[in-house]
Amino acid sequence: MELNEMYEGLGISEKVLKFGIEIEESLKERFKAIDENAEFNQMKVLKAMQEARVSDIHFAATTGYGYNDLGRDTLEEVYAKAFHGEDALVRPQLISGTHALHVALSSNLRPGDELLSPVGKPYDTLEEVIGIRESAGSLKEYGVIYRQVDLLEDGTFDYENIRKAINEKTRLITIQRSKGYQTRPTFSVSQIGELIAFCKSVKPDVLCMVDNCYGEFVERIEPTDVGADMIVGSLIKNPGGGLAPIGGYIVGKKSCVEQASYRLSAPGLGKEVGASLGLNQSFYQGLFMSPTTVAGALKGAIFAANVYEKLGFAVVPNSTESRHDIIQAVTLGTPEGMVAFCRGIQAAAPVDSFVSPEPWDMPGYDAPVIMAAGAFVQGSSIELSADGPIKPPYAVYFQGGLTWYHAKLGILMSLQKMVEAGIVTL
Ligand SMILES: *Cc1c(COP(=O)(O)O)cnc(C)c1O
Repeated sequence: MELNEMYEGLGISEKVLKFGIEIEESLKERFKAIDENAEFNQMKVLKAMQEARVSDIHFAATTGYGYNDLGRDTLEEVYAKAFHGEDALVRPQLISGTHALHVALSSNLRPGDELLSPVGKPYDTLEEVIGIRESAGSLKEYGVIYRQVDLLEDGTFDYENIRKAINEKTRLITIQRSKGYQTRPTFSVSQIGELIAFCKSVKPDVLCMVDNCYGEFVERIEPTDVGADMIVGSLIKNPGGGLAPIGGYIVGKKSCVEQASYRLSAPGLGKEVGASLGLNQSFYQGLFMSPTTVAGALKGAIFAANVYEKLGFAVVPNSTESRHDIIQAVTLGTPEGMVAFCRGIQAAAPVDSFVSPEPWDMPGYDAPVIMAAGAFVQGSSIELSADGPIKPPYAVYFQGGLTWYHAKLGILMSLQKMVEAGIVTL
């Protein structure tokens, strides 16, 4: 049986497949560069695991207080080594990216301190953490003052106003690497390095934290390689490799990680407690898989950009731009387009492929939201998923794919549904 018959059996028409294959052919060079990065990062992770002498005893479960959890402590050593930090906190008790960011911020700031975002508005969920939107328990309630300097029109840093915003009270500077659900560009690690160097030239002892969500292993270097005091992220995104069922990480300066550990557990306890509950193997193995998984997701994002740009839709990043995270926005222009796209992603999933996503009024959003995901881990966005609010410009955000082949099927299926709905003609 031929490969095209397999696609046909899954519901992909000959026309859609042919269109996709032509685009895939044109991407050979870019895919090669992605594979080379994955190879580099695989060596980085292997070296860290070997240096930390990872052994099968580290996969054993601990319960209760989790004193002397060798697996947990060694995993943190591996993260510190792989991301070139002095220390790390990598825990299932960090329940999400937002939680990890909250712990990193609230532990390293004190009443009266100022927090500065020199890259505009942070990710939605952080608005309540910081108190940009009124919220019980926010940093604002604890007397932390927030300042923000927006990016310039062209998406670059507004150095002049950043200089003015940094003062004797500025304690921590938060830099979000990925654009998240905004239209600004995602920053490269080297751009982040320039920003950090500038901030430290104005105030040498200011702490620079990078929200590293969706960025891990996309490049060969991480923000810790260019001066970040802390990087923070979620294990159900890139570094969990699709295997971690929960978790977050904070890697960086020993003093920063130590502060975070006192906030996560309790002053005096810090990193000494926190049972790993049998999750260690999935954390180790997920990190091990992550460079390859991220490569698959990146290929999917680039493939999607090229498919939809060729069909005349606006895509961010565009078909040829260099990539610094795994998110792809596609502006479909109509509610019907968004629904068809998401139904295709859903229909291609290994889990819940038989359900059909519908827009719904999700709490916290001002328009109905449509979401497609058929994931092994609930909410995992390193797995193939797409979502977006049903309002102009009618854009879907697409990300993930544990393997390139699955991401490819997802995009072909999205196109198939668009064709069937009469939105696109090939
Ligand atoms: C996903 C994300 C977060 C929040 O992570 P959750 O695990 O969803 O809480 C924060 N910042 C950025 C840039 C993200 O992409």
